[in-house]
Amino acid sequence: MDVASLKDAVVKVIRSREQDFIAISHELFKHPETGLQEHRSSELLCKFLKREGFRVQYGLAGMETAFMASRGDTGPSIAILAEMDALPELGHACGHNIIAAAALGAATGLRAVLSNEDIRLTVLGTPAEEQGIGKIELIKAGYFDRIDFAMMVHPSSRRYITKAYLGLARLKFIFFGRPAHASAYPEEGINALDAVIQTFNAINALRQQTAQDVRIHGIITEGGTAPNIIPARAACSFYVRAMDLDRVHQTVKRVIACAQGAATAAGCEVEVVEDPRIMAPFRINAAFSELYAIQLQALGLQVDEVPVDRNCGSSDIGNVSQIVPTIHPHVPIGLGINIHSNTFAEASVSPKGDQAVLEGACALAMAAVELACDPECRQRITEEFRNS
Ligand SMILES: [Zn+2]
Ligand SMILES: [Zn+2]
Repeated sequence: MDVASLKDAVVKVIRSREQDFIAISHELFKHPETGLQEHRSSELLCKFLKREGFRVQYGLAGMETAFMASRGDTGPSIAILAEMDALPELGHACGHNIIAAAALGAATGLRAVLSNEDIRLTVLGTPAEEQGIGKIELIKAGYFDRIDFAMMVHPSSRRYITKAYLGLARLKFIFFGRPAHASAYPEEGINALDAVIQTFNAINALRQQTAQDVRIHGIITEGGTAPNIIPARAACSFYVRAMDLDRVHQTVKRVIACAQGAATAAGCEVEVVEDPRIMAPFRINAAFSELYAIQLQALGLQVDEVPVDRNCGSSDIGNVSQIVPTIHPHVPIGLGINIHSNTFAEASVSPKGDQAVLEGACALAMAAVELACDPECRQRITEEFRNS
């Protein structure tokens, strides 16, 4: 069969099984589980993939809910990533139920039309995206070493081919002072909360001297126990983001200096806790993105033309994109409905949400068919990756 007929065939298989994939999306939605607690979700996905003839391995890289379902002996090694974690209180307000269901749809279609000689296909269950853990741990444990191409979709308000993601570092400052009666013996106290407040003020001053893409945001996690006790301990945590990792590291240094200065001013000790898991910015591969765009055109779907660097968050898919050519396009579930809200959660199982599952499944599967069949296409993508 030629590429065009194979693509038609893969879409036909996915459409004929659409109720199965939509059911998976809804089932995940009904039982949302937060990062590393996705036991039921992971089991549901693994069982499905086993029934579809994949070799399934679960409990990877020290994460019980991470899994790898693979099939095929030769051909390019393509990974379709399935996120599955939900948010505390909000449930599937990031729509990861759609991501997992689309991944299963694409894998099911590919299994039906391509042989074990055409493609080495892996569905990777990547937990705890919201905490920026799953993919980073899987990379560390070598699960991406034998992957040539990585792909996934993410639901969004619009249809994007690519979107920038910022690098992100996480910091925590704990200040240690001395307690005292705030009215009777204030001169005996050392106020740790003062250091926290000064840290925020110093960072607010720093903002004037940061580049456009830098984002610094924090919360106070400990601020004392009672107004009449001078706080002996106070703490705050910050995220520092920027478009490239050098800038993230430079900004982190300055933010730490703000906290150290604040500690000196308040007479406190400060403990700086830096999370070793740094999220990398997303490395866009134009040739790979173009491959996905071609599939959308073939499906008759219009892409929303919006600047890629607007309204950016961060994701551990950024780390994957640094080591393997990756796409992370967005499937639309409702204009004006933004992620991490109750309305987004509801939309993830609406008719539009269900449509997004099928769009993601079909477009990913079609792109994978083309990758499997067209060595020139693979070369374009890997060459760009090597040279960028
Ligand atoms: Zn999210
Ligand atoms: Zn998400």
